[in-house]
Amino acid sequence: MTKSQNQTVLDMQPSGIRRFFDIANEIEGVISLGVGEPDFPTPWPIREEAIRSIKKGKTYYTANAGLIELRRAISTYLSNKYDIHYDAQTEVIVTVGGSEAIDLACRGLINPGDEVLVMDPSYVSYVPSIELAGGIPVPIQLPSEHDFILQPEGIEAKITDKTKAIILNYPNNPTGAAASREELEKIADVIKKHDLYVLTDEIYSEIWYAKDKYTSIASFEGMKERTIYINGFAKAFSMTGWRIGYLCGPEVLVEQMLKVHQFTIMAAPTVSQYAAIVALEECDNEVEAMRKDYLQRRNFLLGRFREMGIPCFVPRGAFYTFPDIREFNMTSEEFALALLDAEKLAVVPGTAFGEGGEGFLRISYAYSIRELTIAMNKIEDFITKLRNQK
Ligand code: PMP
Repeated sequence: MTKSQNQTVLDMQPSGIRRFFDIANEIEGVISLGVGEPDFPTPWPIREEAIRSIKKGKTYYTANAGLIELRRAISTYLSNKYDIHYDAQTEVIVTVGGSEAIDLACRGLINPGDEVLVMDPSYVSYVPSIELAGGIPVPIQLPSEHDFILQPEGIEAKITDKTKAIILNYPNNPTGAAASREELEKIADVIKKHDLYVLTDEIYSEIWYAKDKYTSIASFEGMKERTIYINGFAKAFSMTGWRIGYLCGPEVLVEQMLKVHQFTIMAAPTVSQYAAIVALEECDNEVEAMRKDYLQRRNFLLGRFREMGIPCFVPRGAFYTFPDIREFNMTSEEFALALLDAEKLAVVPGTAFGEGGEGFLRISYAYSIRELTIAMNKIEDFITKLRNQK
């Protein structure tokens, strides 16, 4: 074959997380704190509803935008929980996970050559989704001294006349950082001042530990018209394998994105849609129980890092810690590979999420306290040896 393939795809790097875990998987007996996937099984009421729907023969396509009952449940849930208001008929699309929603938002907004601001470090799919849509990702290095919260000056420094949008993700993967209401207000002011769109990925909003009430940037005055709100069921309801999420926005945007969804996906899986209604309407207690467990694990990790003298800011949400390993004068990747080699423990180098992650590791606590204890002992042994070599 002599004809070339798509150049954007050829140039794309595979996910840094995957690359690292391909190495880890080759080593026998490896313990991993690498995966960003809840370790809890999906709560029973959700599973039972899925089985019931199949027994009733609900095995056909739904409306392209998703079951209206589910869209109503999403609309009510967002209104009650976060004071954000979307019309179930015209402003919600049920997607194949948050992943499809990110892709849809990029394809629906970006024209070739548009610049899109992305936090660095950030979740691995934003940059490729922007590039596939013909856009140019512009990283904004997140300041570690501000616990990885975007500063208005940092955003403004990267804005040009080509800037179309910014992608926000709080609570954040990989850092666990989450902006306060005041910080979000300042970010929103910059977005409004420069007339940008914002794609806000709030998939971790239920995994929230801070004392202040969770605030969505979509809830601020003047933001709805410029906001694509993305959420999903994978994290809060431990439904990664069900492949279901959603995108909300003003009708003028959503009706365009629906065309892309219609032609590429048709509709999200029907069984998952029925299950998702029960998740939203009946599973507050299960979500709260998982949140409490994550909080306990987070505190356990922070306590162990403190004892080891490893700086780590207190994550306000999600299930990741982002310890600072700059003391050891190794790159994140060197550190992670050496840890893997010496202790058979896999954690993700911060640079898998962009250059802004250099000097840090992402350690997921979607693992049991027993596993976390073994892993922390290994880290302690490893850094003790490193310090003794100095
Ligand atoms: N956004 C973020 C920030 C994530 O961490 C993930 C999953 N790791 C996703 C989106 C995609 O989730 P889903 O399984 O719903 O596609």
